[in-house]
Amino acid sequence: MSALFGNYGQRRAQIVKGQGTIVEDSAGKQYLDFTSGIAVVSLGHAHPAIVQAVQAQSEKLWHTSNLFDIPGQEKVAQRLIAETHFAHAFFCNSGTEANEAAIKLARKHTGKHHIITFEKSFHGRTFGAMSATGQGKIHNGFGPLVEKFTILPFNDAAALEAAIDDSVAAIMLEMIQGEGGVNGVTSEFAAAIAQACNDKGILLIIDEVQTGIGRTGTRYAFEQTILKPHIITLAKGLGGGFPVGAMLGTAELYATFSPGTHGTTFGGNPLAMSVAEAVLSHVFEPAFLQQVQELAAYFVEQLKAHLPSSYTVRGQGLLLGIDCGATEVASYIAAAEDKGLLLVGAGPNVIRLLPPLTVTKEEIDKAIAILKTILL
Ligand SMILES: *Cc1c(COP(=O)(O)O)cnc(C)c1O
Repeated sequence: MSALFGNYGQRRAQIVKGQGTIVEDSAGKQYLDFTSGIAVVSLGHAHPAIVQAVQAQSEKLWHTSNLFDIPGQEKVAQRLIAETHFAHAFFCNSGTEANEAAIKLARKHTGKHHIITFEKSFHGRTFGAMSATGQGKIHNGFGPLVEKFTILPFNDAAALEAAIDDSVAAIMLEMIQGEGGVNGVTSEFAAAIAQACNDKGILLIIDEVQTGIGRTGTRYAFEQTILKPHIITLAKGLGGGFPVGAMLGTAELYATFSPGTHGTTFGGNPLAMSVAEAVLSHVFEPAFLQQVQELAAYFVEQLKAHLPSSYTVRGQGLLLGIDCGATEVASYIAAAEDKGLLLVGAGPNVIRLLPPLTVTKEEIDKAIAILKTILL
């Protein structure tokens, strides 16, 4: 019997080291890591810039708490908001905490309680973020949930229009539902959201925990749409493997988070900020983002060329999904692992492809060769 709770179910290979896209298990077997620790290891494993940042900062100072001024927070915040319409950042340690901050900020700012979210969304596991999540399997047994979340069908403009009234504080959604099946927002739906927010003064919260920090080929996924969110939330790729979360917001929201209204002990500590700074100094370079777009285009083209047409490929940047129709993907994922390719699902019927943003064409070719032997 394990000394651990069983909440993760049966776990897979025991990975003991990694370099770039390649990881190695305790038996010495190597794998191509096309999970990136679920979109986290954005610069690949053991990237020299991150190793250097951790080493240098860990010898100087790890933690002081938010009682004190932490210069790294200002630096990382400046990088995150540069050339955007955002004015301020708040740092925390995870995606779910970033979403809690967003929910609290939206309620306090508007003085309203009602938040609209969508089916198949995933926003995290704390009570607020769980209540926002549109998946019954995440809620089961944990009720009563936080009140006043209305979960609507995704990409259904008519359902949204019907649900909008003066009680709505915010609409919260992912640009691509990562956990829910790699489902993107249609341009028609984006237009309906923009209209609803404009007409009724509703805040727009975009959960970019998975899609943000270069994953979709731009700094943030919303930049590829007409949407101009008041708040976005970030985590996963931001720390490259170190736990860092963030919420960005517009200038009008500043006064709502007045001193003492919200906080965290660990959030934005000097070590976390030095790592985030190293990640952003690479990922936010236009040439780097350009390369992510080129790799993604190549990956999609190769998938479409080599997989049978019964599989649908979708997604954006290096957040891609292979829809396997009615087939459950768990056995495909296990077969790929046997052959040296690590994958993760997105719901029961979709294989999610999340290589590090530093993946090479050769590694993509190798992954395709393995996928071809599995997806006949
Ligand atoms: C992973 C994820 C979260 C939760 O992040 P944690 O760091 O696990 O708390 C929230 N929203 C989205 C879109 C995610 O992909």
